[in-house]
Amino acid sequence: MKTKCIGILSSGGDAPGMNAAVRAITRSAIYNGFSVKAIYRGYEGLITGEIEEFKTQNVSNIIQKGGTILKTARSKEFRTPEGRQVAYETLQREGIDALVIIGGDGSLTGARIFGEEYNIPCIGLPGTIDNDLNGTDTTIGYDTALNTIIECVDKIRDTATSHDRLFFVEVMGRDAGFLALNSALASGAEAAIIPEDQTDSDQLEEFINRGFRKSKKSSIVIVAESPKDGGAMHYADRVKNEYPQYDVRVTILGHIQRGGSPTANDRILASRLGAAAIEAILDGQRNVMVGIQDNDIVYVPFNKAIKKDKKIDKGLIQVLNQLSI
Ligand code: ATP
Repeated sequence: MKTKCIGILSSGGDAPGMNAAVRAITRSAIYNGFSVKAIYRGYEGLITGEIEEFKTQNVSNIIQKGGTILKTARSKEFRTPEGRQVAYETLQREGIDALVIIGGDGSLTGARIFGEEYNIPCIGLPGTIDNDLNGTDTTIGYDTALNTIIECVDKIRDTATSHDRLFFVEVMGRDAGFLALNSALASGAEAAIIPEDQTDSDQLEEFINRGFRKSKKSSIVIVAESPKDGGAMHYADRVKNEYPQYDVRVTILGHIQRGGSPTANDRILASRLGAAAIEAILDGQRNVMVGIQDNDIVYVPFNKAIKKDKKIDKGLIQVLNQLSI
């Protein structure tokens, strides 16, 4: 069956650059003769039928905007076979015969299951600030979030220096340390505590033992949020108990990291990946995520993209330690 109408949705956590992706997918689709339907609130919109036809002007003036004009949601119903059956019926009713999903690993897991259960080509775009999808060097929103973090850390540094304080700054990333490690490098922080290094050593003890106070009066440690051990608060409590001589503070950056106008890198990435998603549909591909490797577009099977084992370059920890003496 030849594809005529492409449905687009954004799902899971929002990420800056999702709008640039929506624009690119819509315009490339129309350019190639497809019609486009926007599905609102992620998979939820497939269940409630909140869907609208998009023309080129629907995506005017959005490339620079954070968030997602399609809205996003976490849909419990889509996790059930009954919910996905309703979603499929909606697609049939709307005449949508291919789907492009912008989201993180949960959203692409949903796409994988849906694409296997029903005869509908699903193409994924990596849209998450966490950069935790395999098979792509970077994800839409990651660069913007990194830049937001370093802007905040620069400000925290001013007050940390003035008071000679040790700051633990908690950043997002769920089970991945990409944001923490790279924002630490980019902001000149003294250390990063990341989940990928957790099993190897007591990162706090190592940091204290390096004697950061010998040459510096203040210090900033970037901590990846960690549902397992409590993140920055946990380390601040430990310092209070184990090293009471230090004046400790905690800043949790929270949802600030998700907002804001996307950087040039994220806009370019989203535009390229969006256009490549339509190429994939034209080529008859299905169940793949569009990614970027060494500046080339790649198509990664969902199974591989969502494996949750994206390698972080631990050599960067060494670089960080060297540069923070
Ligand atoms: P982020 O990484 O930014 O949090 P995400 O895409 O990983 O984004 P999730 O909340 O994990 O966010 O997933 C988004 C949605 O994808 C879920 O609300 C659900 O509708 C769908 N989804 C996730 N996992 C599954 C699954 N195993 N089966 C079906 N649908 C799923």
